[in-house]
Amino acid sequence: MTISLLGATEIREIAESLELHPAKSLGQNFVIDSNTCQKIVRLAVINHGDHVVEIGPGIGSLTLALLQATNRVTAIEIDERLARQLPITAKNHGVPDKNLTVINQDAMKLFDLPDAPTKLVANLPYNVSVPVLLTFLERFPSITSGVVMVQTEVAERLAAKPGSKTYGVPSAKAAWWCDMILADSVSRSVFWPVPNVDSSLVKFIRHEPLGDEQLRRTTFDLIDRAFGQRRKMLRAIYSDIYGGSGEAESALASAGIDPTTRGESLAVERFAAIAKQLDRR
Ligand code: SAM
Repeated sequence: MTISLLGATEIREIAESLELHPAKSLGQNFVIDSNTCQKIVRLAVINHGDHVVEIGPGIGSLTLALLQATNRVTAIEIDERLARQLPITAKNHGVPDKNLTVINQDAMKLFDLPDAPTKLVANLPYNVSVPVLLTFLERFPSITSGVVMVQTEVAERLAAKPGSKTYGVPSAKAAWWCDMILADSVSRSVFWPVPNVDSSLVKFIRHEPLGDEQLRRTTFDLIDRAFGQRRKMLRAIYSDIYGGSGEAESALASAGIDPTTRGESLAVERFAAIAKQLDRR
């Protein structure tokens, strides 16, 4: 049986039957345009054997498009009404029961999945998009790539390179795990209700690990410190770690980093070089 997609009218009908008034606090802006969902799936390059994890499936428009491409989707939805309804909607659209697992939980509190996901594809709840994405990349190393829809401002930050105005904590931390590519923008008109921010798609591909968990923690701490005081030079920011600005200056120099540089010009590999030297002390 072929799987059919959701249209705008049906989405509104389902919401009405659930007495659902989309909640801003949960970032509930549903995609009502099936072409957008298919575009996301194409961009994610889903193979039939992929186990796709979707965070925040909502009424299920993207979920059904994913299930046209693979027979294994796990969807994590915090809203109980939506989580209860989704398997029913999926069945009505021709999805065999075994192809979709719905977990009614806050994605941030999910540490385990029944089997390892290979891709992450989601129209993320905007209020938690960065922590959810970074947390999933950390918790599920089996995720090799994916596509997320986020607020355009966040998409630009995730994909920003050192030296650019938008480069910051999300850019440096995301780059620890993946190459992040700003893929496309999405019109506000594809959502119901229409959001008051613009949205964009980010594609990510996991690269070789830059180091172990200990090194990651130290690197992330250095990143947080560097961007907490953006205007300051690294030797001043890290002086308390090294026990003085002179000590910081020589330690940074010996890690091959100019001590007068600022965090905003440093790629994650450079933060990791400082972390490596710190961990050896
Ligand atoms: N994927 C759907 C679509 O494109 O139409 C809905 C996307 S909507 C932007 C975000 C969805 O995430 C909502 O269904 C919301 O209830 C859910 N959500 C919000 N916070 C969540 C969390 N912490 N964990 C899991 N789901 C969450």
